[in-house]
Amino acid sequence: MDGKNDSCIEIRGAKTHNLKNIDLDIPHGKLTVLTGVSGSGKSSLAFDTLFAEGQRQYLQSLSSFTRQFVDQLEPPSVDSIRGLQPSLCIDQNQGISSPRSTVGTITEIYDFVRLLMARVATPACYACGNPIDRQPPTSIIESIANLPEGSKMTIMAPMVLSRKGGHLDVFEKITKSGLLRAQVDGEFVDLESPPVLSPRKEHSIAAVVDRLIQRPENAERISSAVHAALRLSNGLLSLHYQTPSQTDSPLQPVSSSRTKAPRAREPKDQPSEFDRFFSTRFACVACGISLPEIEPRTFSFNSPYGACPTCEGFGEIGEETKQECPTCRGNRLRPESLAIRLSNKSIADISKLPISDLRVWLAHLQFERTKQPIAEPILKEIQPRLDYLTHVGLGYLTLDRKGDTLSGGELQRVRLATSVGTGLIGVCYVLDEPSIGLHPRDTQRLIEILRSLQKRGNTIVVVEHDEAIMKAADLLVDIGPGAGVHGGEIIACGPPKKVSRIAESITGQYLLGTKETHAPRERPVGDDTPKLKLSGVTKNNLRNLSVDFPLMRLVGITGVSGSGKSTLIHDSLVLAIQSTIHGNTLATQHWKNFTGAEQIDRLIEIDQSPIGRSPRSVPATYCGLWDDIRKIYASTRDAKQRGFKAVRFSFNSGNGRCDACAGQGRQKLEMSFLEDVDIPCPECVGKRYNRQTLAVHFKGKSIADALDMTVDEAVEFFENMDSLKRSLQRLQEVGLGYITLGQRSTTLSGGEAQRLKLANELTRTSTGKTLYVLDEPTTGLHLADVAQLIQVLQGLVERGNSVLVIEHHMDLIQSCDWVIDMGPEGGNQGGEILAVGPPAMLAKLDTPTGRALREVMA
Ligand code: ADP
Ligand code: ADP
Ligand code: ZN
Repeated sequence: MDGKNDSCIEIRGAKTHNLKNIDLDIPHGKLTVLTGVSGSGKSSLAFDTLFAEGQRQYLQSLSSFTRQFVDQLEPPSVDSIRGLQPSLCIDQNQGISSPRSTVGTITEIYDFVRLLMARVATPACYACGNPIDRQPPTSIIESIANLPEGSKMTIMAPMVLSRKGGHLDVFEKITKSGLLRAQVDGEFVDLESPPVLSPRKEHSIAAVVDRLIQRPENAERISSAVHAALRLSNGLLSLHYQTPSQTDSPLQPVSSSRTKAPRAREPKDQPSEFDRFFSTRFACVACGISLPEIEPRTFSFNSPYGACPTCEGFGEIGEETKQECPTCRGNRLRPESLAIRLSNKSIADISKLPISDLRVWLAHLQFERTKQPIAEPILKEIQPRLDYLTHVGLGYLTLDRKGDTLSGGELQRVRLATSVGTGLIGVCYVLDEPSIGLHPRDTQRLIEILRSLQKRGNTIVVVEHDEAIMKAADLLVDIGPGAGVHGGEIIACGPPKKVSRIAESITGQYLLGTKETHAPRERPVGDDTPKLKLSGVTKNNLRNLSVDFPLMRLVGITGVSGSGKSTLIHDSLVLAIQSTIHGNTLATQHWKNFTGAEQIDRLIEIDQSPIGRSPRSVPATYCGLWDDIRKIYASTRDAKQRGFKAVRFSFNSGNGRCDACAGQGRQKLEMSFLEDVDIPCPECVGKRYNRQTLAVHFKGKSIADALDMTVDEAVEFFENMDSLKRSLQRLQEVGLGYITLGQRSTTLSGGEAQRLKLANELTRTSTGKTLYVLDEPTTGLHLADVAQLIQVLQGLVERGNSVLVIEHHMDLIQSCDWVIDMGPEGGNQGGEILAVGPPAMLAKLDTPTGRALREVMA
């Protein structure tokens, strides 16, 4: 190994996608930020080259079994990468593997809480709530031996605990084991003539194993009676005893809730009678309920030992309208598991605490002296994870929050905090825009987390557009200059200060502040401005909230993560509009009043959810322009000679596609215990079509070549086709000129998916009375792209439409006509309107948004 490998990851000759044979040294143990306009090649470098190679080298090193698959993986197109550490990728697309995932399971905190519960919590009977204990046989013998000398005792084996039936078989079992007496419903009986029991009533039966008086010479006899009783009743023993008068029993009297057996009587100056129940397993004598061994899996809703049998651990039942499970009330676990408590809280109660509260509660827990050393190492695992989650502004989340309800940015920060908590070192972390969804106020904390990962000796590579994160980098790499074929080069590389002095770097110009993104307009909001008025909203953390939304304006919704923006817009306003203008009837409505919807005639909600889950969807089919392109191919001379119609050029159906992969271009390779790997179809080498179809050319290119073009390339290639060209230009306008027509939609980032939907809406004829609702459309956009997006949104408003946008990007917010700022914090401490008004007014306030706005407006 040469010296250089020790200090950096050496990338030589990277050519993946649009990368132009680039060389880059990424220092080990430092924070490197890759930036550049969308489509310039950042992801191609970070994920498709660096991370892909890290994964390949890892598989290679595992075993000969995994090595056989390495050859089938597409190697990244790069000459060499040396000094690469094991790599972990934390991106926005990483799906939640199971619908049962929760914040607790993703962070592994729940696993440690389960362990804590299993080791130190107090078991209790789920029917009567009484604590349950168990003892080994030796300590049962010891307890009995400690009774006062002269005590008269009856050692019994409980056979039936409050169960209906005639129980003749039980009597037979007792007599067969050589015993002759039993206690039946509190009365001692002789089994030579067993009592006739009503089969429809509940009975309790205990076999009398021995009757004797406590004396030293009886020690042996007590011991064998205890063992015989435990054997007969499978770990249970009941003891009836009478102490000599004036003597207090060292044993506790039987629990007061016991009803079926005789109660202790303690008249003065008379011998006292007691009953005592022993168990070598967890069981409640009063209810006849016995618990299995308490283990971590007892608390797992992913295991049959813990999961509620009704909902199988999902907490909900039913398909589509979903209802809370009636058995566990949404708590996902068996009643036995939920009865076990730690300082009066079940594991479900613990999972419902906001993480910031859980942290405080755990820190103040008091344990018995014997349990303290057991609890301590477990708490040491939990605390730092909770600390980090709180620190990255996620303290409002609860452990039971379902993974699939988290936003991309929240999920990424949850994963990041988890990585810090696990304490791995010597790893290369590759992250994709971790600042998404984060208010500028919290960016500094995110940087601290990245720093703490780095200070432990990890290498951090982040793809980012956020100015504060770029400025915090040890090494800033600007990739560009443009997108697609116009990008793929390293324009500037060095400490941020150095990059900002490089004239060719667009990033540098923005960092220096010589270029501005916003395009302010004058559109005041007054009493006569049309408005949507929503009042009395109560949902998640919103409590009776009322808000007015000005129409025909660009309106921004701001606030720290978790303050309630999505709840207000997606879960409330959008529903209210839909129920009014589309006439959807709602089973329940969580707001009091809603007016103003008659002033708009269409609502278009454009969010970051993926565009279809089918890998058959690609941008060209989604935007409807693929039909135009197929027609162009069908009209060529090549096609006419062969009799091929437009349908021949579909990869989703018909005779034109590759049979082997059914037009997918890829095949799934199953790797038994590892994740499946996607490989190009060996038959068509990823082209999706069969040979005859590929023989048809338009201007020298096949239909597969057209699918491979970027939007920018296609605009030039199809320049004479007017309507097709206009659709393609819409994609350019929203900053998607770099995507290929045939990129599988499932691989688009949340931000790209959203901009694709926006472009699609732009191609429709605008009614002029449309309300557009967008959620963080700047995701994935470089400052230069943000300027373009602002133009598009302004254009919509200029044509009389209304735009509502949830955003953290202050350049976009300062271009708004009106801002609705929520807060003050996330979760229970949020859900209020902090301020409403034009950006210039908000910038005067001492709020997180006010301060952030002042910075960009200065
Ligand atoms: P960035 O991360 O800077 O936004 P990307 O690395 O995603 O840019 O894209 C750089 C170029 O590579 C773009 O032209 C894009 O269309 C292309 N590209 C991205 N992914 C693929 C892929 N899977 N196959 C072919 N080209 C791709
Ligand atoms: P923002 O959009 O400002 O980040 P949200 O509206 O997503 O905030 O969240 C507001 C509060 O509501 C938070 O406490 C969050 O945890 C809670 N919340 C949001 N969605 C859900 C959900 N699906 N289930 C339970 N709680 C939720
Ligand atoms: Zn194929």
